[in-house]
Amino acid sequence: MWSAILLSAVAMTLIVGVRYLVVSGAFAWGTRRRHPGLYAGLNAQVRKEIGWSLASAAIYGVPAGVVAWGWQNLGWTRIYTDASEYPLWYLPLSVFLYLFAHDSWFYWTHRWMHRPRPFRLAHAVHHASRPPTAWAAMAFHPIEALTGAVVIPTLVFLIPIHVAALGFVLGIMTVMGVTNHMGWEVFPRVMWRGPLGAWLITASHHQKHHERYGCNYGLYFRFWDRLCGTDEGVGDFARSHDAAARRAAARRAAAGRVADRVA
Ligand SMILES: [Zn+2]
Ligand SMILES: [Zn+2]
Repeated sequence: MWSAILLSAVAMTLIVGVRYLVVSGAFAWGTRRRHPGLYAGLNAQVRKEIGWSLASAAIYGVPAGVVAWGWQNLGWTRIYTDASEYPLWYLPLSVFLYLFAHDSWFYWTHRWMHRPRPFRLAHAVHHASRPPTAWAAMAFHPIEALTGAVVIPTLVFLIPIHVAALGFVLGIMTVMGVTNHMGWEVFPRVMWRGPLGAWLITASHHQKHHERYGCNYGLYFRFWDRLCGTDEGVGDFARSHDAAARRAAARRAAAGRVADRVA
């Protein structure tokens, strides 16, 4: 039995790790195409982001693997596979409940981690990315990763969810974790500037958190930030894009000087 649990934990760690590498890699590739040079000069930072993220993969993978084993073998959790078990309208509601619960947990633990001691001890790792890249999606100190790792494995015991809806929640979690950090806005302006953007968080909102620290703590929704007066609106990427353009110009000039000397 123990070896089966261990196997499930290892398998889940691999799944989380590979999922991270594939999704972050895809968005980093997209960034190179869309904004060439945006990550230039950030190689040392990206290496650290990948290192912390892979460590987080194990911290996320172990509890998820144990719960997945218990679900399959002991009937743990309230995950269901027969779609007729609950009314159809419950599917979108369950997705919303999971996102809202995760967002609430994240908002308050994140705010707590901005207090001086927990910040120095743990959250500073995430903010060491200045500016973050698509690889920073899971760049957390193990203490912070642990606070994130318990969320979904706990919720599946509390709130019924269809297995496909759970997959959808995990998909949103992965994509938003990457896109919120990749240094440019992937969603159309009409969305994040419009009425929907008043309540939903995308990269433009999280950018301001990484720039100013003491605001915009939310994960998916602006609900808690707005309720608690910590919402400072959406930011923009003009400054980091200007800096990237300056770095690129300096590199071109340096390469030009080398070429002149060679000639
Ligand atoms: Zn962040
Ligand atoms: Zn923070």
